[in-house]
Amino acid sequence: MFKLVCGAGNEDAEYVKRLVYIYSLAGANIFDLSARKEILNSAKEAVSLSGNNQASFCVSIGIKGDKHIKKAVINDSKCIKCQNCLRNCPNDAVYSSIIIDEKRCIGCSKCSDSCPTGAISMTEKDVNYREILPYMVNNGVDILELHIMGNDINDLENKWKVIIECNPKFASICIDRENFGNKEVLNRIKSMISYRNPYTTIIQADGIPMSGAADDYKTTLQAVAMAEIIQNANLPVYIMLSGGTNSKTSELAKLCNINYWGVAVGSWARKIVKQYISNDDFWENITLQEKAINIAKNLVEKCQ
Ligand code: SF4
Ligand code: SF4
Repeated sequence: MFKLVCGAGNEDAEYVKRLVYIYSLAGANIFDLSARKEILNSAKEAVSLSGNNQASFCVSIGIKGDKHIKKAVINDSKCIKCQNCLRNCPNDAVYSSIIIDEKRCIGCSKCSDSCPTGAISMTEKDVNYREILPYMVNNGVDILELHIMGNDINDLENKWKVIIECNPKFASICIDRENFGNKEVLNRIKSMISYRNPYTTIIQADGIPMSGAADDYKTTLQAVAMAEIIQNANLPVYIMLSGGTNSKTSELAKLCNINYWGVAVGSWARKIVKQYISNDDFWENITLQEKAINIAKNLVEKCQ
């Protein structure tokens, strides 16, 4: 399975439409989207245009504290216009005037990490999950995913309960080790799947979230390591590799005897087609589309 991660915080409908269209024609199976009606509609339009009637959709929400629900905000009074944020943003969410396009911001914090004056803060933007999640399942979404790397256990339990009540084909837990050790990671997963039927839950084993900026073994090492930790726990779940995934991920996972169900690729998948997607004449320029599809196809094939 190849899952294209458009970004839980990516709310740019036209950008998502182009991305999904390219990867749908390249053979991707699952499209991971922000839990917004207009984004789902946009992705559906793209798969329909591509003639793909096998596509599955996954929507993601996060608990309080998880970086996937954060957005960058600039304090102008502290900004010295050095443009570090502009250069380091992987999603073209910072304009040359040093204004952030909230719809494009995926909360990766690369801008704030590179800001020399502390002018950028990361703020949380939650969704009305009680309303939006049932809507998604009733409108063709097969997988509901929860990003759980925050400290608010009440929020985690409330959101997970709503996901289970929606009865999606699969519930998915996205987890990494940035803030917690292996023991806490496994405890959270075990508690969450304790009342799930076997093999109705996907664990998205994130190495380092949103870190797939390069196509080498080192970048994907932590994704494979995280998958191994889940695998060694012998849980009745499917394992999806993520967080630093690229064209080397499957190869390394196979060498390490990881029995994975799929590979989810976000940063790297978006980066390799970025120059084509952002072109003004994208929909008219078939040659350009074909170039992007071939590049995407190469990645999808290597991730099997
Ligand atoms: S670097 Fe990341 S957090 Fe900052 S604006 Fe770009 S997408 Fe948002
Ligand atoms: S990195 Fe910080 S100081 Fe530099 S342009 Fe961006 S917000 Fe301003």
